[in-house]
Amino acid sequence: MENKKAIWVSKFGGTSLANAQQIKKVKEIIFADERRNIVVVSAPGKEDPTDTKITDLLLQCHALASQGKSFDEPFANISKRFLTIAEELQVGQQIKEELKTIYKRLFQEESADYAASRGEYLNALIISEYFGAEFVDAEEIIRLTSAGRVDELSYDLTAKRLTKCTGRIVIPGFYGTNTNGTIQTFSRGGSDITGAIVARAVQAELYENWTDVSGIYLADPRIVPDAKPVAQITYREIRELSCIGANVLHEDAIGPVRSAQIPIHIKNTNDSTAPGTIIRATRDSNLQHIVGVSGKKGYRKLSIEKFMLATYPALKEQLQQILHKKKIRFDLVVDAFDAMTIYLSTEIEEEQAQALAQELQLVLDLDNCQMSEPLVLIGLVGEGLGREEHLAERINQALGTQKRYFSLLAGVFDLKMVMTVPVKAYESTLQAIVEVVRT
Ligand code: ASP
Repeated sequence: MENKKAIWVSKFGGTSLANAQQIKKVKEIIFADERRNIVVVSAPGKEDPTDTKITDLLLQCHALASQGKSFDEPFANISKRFLTIAEELQVGQQIKEELKTIYKRLFQEESADYAASRGEYLNALIISEYFGAEFVDAEEIIRLTSAGRVDELSYDLTAKRLTKCTGRIVIPGFYGTNTNGTIQTFSRGGSDITGAIVARAVQAELYENWTDVSGIYLADPRIVPDAKPVAQITYREIRELSCIGANVLHEDAIGPVRSAQIPIHIKNTNDSTAPGTIIRATRDSNLQHIVGVSGKKGYRKLSIEKFMLATYPALKEQLQQILHKKKIRFDLVVDAFDAMTIYLSTEIEEEQAQALAQELQLVLDLDNCQMSEPLVLIGLVGEGLGREEHLAERINQALGTQKRYFSLLAGVFDLKMVMTVPVKAYESTLQAIVEVVRT
């Protein structure tokens, strides 16, 4: 592989590779441009919404095996899917043997990570043969830290290994090895991270991320049906959006390409001519102030009252310890002199929520302690947000006409504005906000 030639790394997600027909589409895309030299693949995903992803089936096998139970049923399902794909593409003579080895290793109680990784592995074997490309195992080039993050060593290893290749390359996403040399996966959706690591290692001109939607939408089209994909988003904006529930791309996939300033192009395998969304370091935010409105469920507001509360610093610490022990996270704290509001960000059931409020009132000797109903944190993100005139006022007006109000409004660096609303008001609030943003 010649280093100076412009290289694109193209990653395809599970639905793009769910069956032989989809893989044929992917081949057309790859062969339509010489620069699509390195392909990173996910495991086959769902063929339709009722289907189960191969990764989930593999994890089921592992769970059953570790309880000493038979995993023949999910394994038969996995085998059938891969053998059908191989047969329809007329490749993959070795897949039967590979499946036997995997079955044996699962039986011998290999780790969950090993099990989960085999979907990407088998898919990459089949696809590389179908493309006439070289298969490079992620085991050789991707290193993970014990915390499941990318180990910097990966960049060098990948660059060195891939310079030895002369033609197209196919690499399985999602896994690598850890410091002990055993297989470890990233968190779910982690093939996006593999693609980003490879793109940085080879100094790609572009990192393409092919999926089943036509880019990043201003808002979830299931809630706002006429929402459109946005043309450009910055790395900062996309990270903020993933924090508040927009999940087109794994949030750890930004780091590797951000430092090398490699743009990410989100494209739709099922509509390959659609322009998609480009994620890059900068964009002209005058053209579009706000690029995303999204919501994240699982919040509750905890309101505490105690006369002279601000003079009891130890109480705050005690409160944090109690939440920590119960593994309840919190995101935002707003202080007043005699009161404090904390936004809990771990989903808890009604009964547990009320019991927690009672416990805190008693243990911390509070005058009052109230727990809200479940809330959604809605965020608006855009580097031009600070230039939107009277935004909060316009949102307030739009919601007010529907007799609904948000309970917290906060802004961060002219980049993000968040508010909370009750879960039952989420969809209509999101629709109202998108309307405001568009006008
Ligand atoms: N197959 C893995 C998952 O389902 C990783 C990926 O698709 O990126 O999470």
